[in-house]
Amino acid sequence: MDLFPVFLDLENRACLVAGGGSVAARKVALLVRAGARVQVVAPKLCDELAALKEQGQISHSAREFEDADLDDKVLVIAGTDRHEVNRRISELANARNLPVNVVDQPELCSFIVPSIIDRSPVQIAVSTGGASPVLARLLRARLESYVPAAYGRLAKLVESFREQVKQRFTTIPQRRQFWENVLQGEVSELLFSGRDELARRSLQKALDESEDEPHRIGEVYLVGAGPGDPDLLTFRALRLMQMADVVVYDRLVAPPILDMARRDAERIYVGKERDNHTLTQENINQLLVRLAKEGKRVVRLKGGDPFIFGRGGEEISTLMENGVAFQVVPGITAASGCATYSGIPLTHRDYAQSVVFVTGHLQDGTVNLNWKALAHPNQTIVFYMGLHGVGIVSEQLIAHGLPATMPVALVQQGTTQNQRVVITDLERLEQTVREEDLKPPTIIIVGHVVELHEKLHWFEPLPGANPRPFGGVPHV
Ligand code: SAH
Repeated sequence: MDLFPVFLDLENRACLVAGGGSVAARKVALLVRAGARVQVVAPKLCDELAALKEQGQISHSAREFEDADLDDKVLVIAGTDRHEVNRRISELANARNLPVNVVDQPELCSFIVPSIIDRSPVQIAVSTGGASPVLARLLRARLESYVPAAYGRLAKLVESFREQVKQRFTTIPQRRQFWENVLQGEVSELLFSGRDELARRSLQKALDESEDEPHRIGEVYLVGAGPGDPDLLTFRALRLMQMADVVVYDRLVAPPILDMARRDAERIYVGKERDNHTLTQENINQLLVRLAKEGKRVVRLKGGDPFIFGRGGEEISTLMENGVAFQVVPGITAASGCATYSGIPLTHRDYAQSVVFVTGHLQDGTVNLNWKALAHPNQTIVFYMGLHGVGIVSEQLIAHGLPATMPVALVQQGTTQNQRVVITDLERLEQTVREEDLKPPTIIIVGHVVELHEKLHWFEPLPGANPRPFGGVPHV
């Protein structure tokens, strides 16, 4: 995080703005809206500022900036048309540890003024850390259309009931539960459609009729997190992640995805590296049951799709036996994500009429698969968890009739900014894995469709864009 976001209370506090032009005027207008006492220092004022002065909203010192103007201020904005003056103000303010913003000169700022969406008391601030004010404004425009104008009224309604709700429910989880139900239901809908009085009555009714001890029944959401790119999450996955009390995740879940879960949700890492199971599957199953019985909303995040080599079936069967409610949310499986992001269609009229997903996991030192059915020239085979068994895979596929020159793609950390695609063939597969030092998670695609990679590849991870690797290390 480059900048630390905060919302400052400037009500009745002294702020300095140097500069009297339209650039300064925009910042002054914001400060005035926030209730600040603004002193503007500038030989001349533009019409906008002159009007504010007229109305008694700001005080004006009609002269150049002087060092003593910084005395007793809590915040400084420099927007003069003279670079050296702006620089001096920035240096002096920094020397006094006063937060300072120089308009359009990020290198001279200790804080930036974000683009804002104002639904007071709800406010959304957008920053690109000064990298691109235009991008921040575009994003703001999109958010404006997403966040109904009525959010401010909703927040005010909630505020007027806060005391009553506090008295009714003694614990924080009870209150949170009450508000979550209310804010995601009828009350909001009524308010957004302009029926404020009905919304107020509905809220009152919900409060009057609420049980003293609203017993919370926990639930488990088994959520497919996709192969790594957070944009590939489903809407439902995101919504449930943002409601979760606890997130139980393993090694395959990429850090940027975990970051999207509710900020104060507890995060539990349950591992699973090869030969280094942090918790056994049985223990994970039991953990989910226990958390749900404690009344928690548990998101069990799984890489890819929970029902494809994800042991999702085992987890929900334990939940069922214990009477715990659950939902399963499908995700984009690694085969699909990695193939797409490496420009390899899994089927193609001219190359492959079928595709199979198999596990190349070693069991008792071998890979037990129906090789005869797999070794079919017009079929694409995708191996999950196959790095350790590659020797057996190529040996068996060749022995069962596939040519040694059959192309193979190895896709490591597919769909992420660390994606690597290595093309080889069956004969050189084992050697390639060794020489290129491929590491899990890697998926192996075997078939003629791999030839299309050269022509169709389109996804270019930015060099060095995301240095964060998938970790076995829990990150919170
Ligand atoms: N349920 C998951 C698969 C779990 S098995 C899914 O549907 O995708 C774990 C294996 O999936 C890894 O060993 C690797 O072969 C593959 N895999 C998962 N994510 C991957 C990624 N981002 N890039 C490449 N392979 C991946």
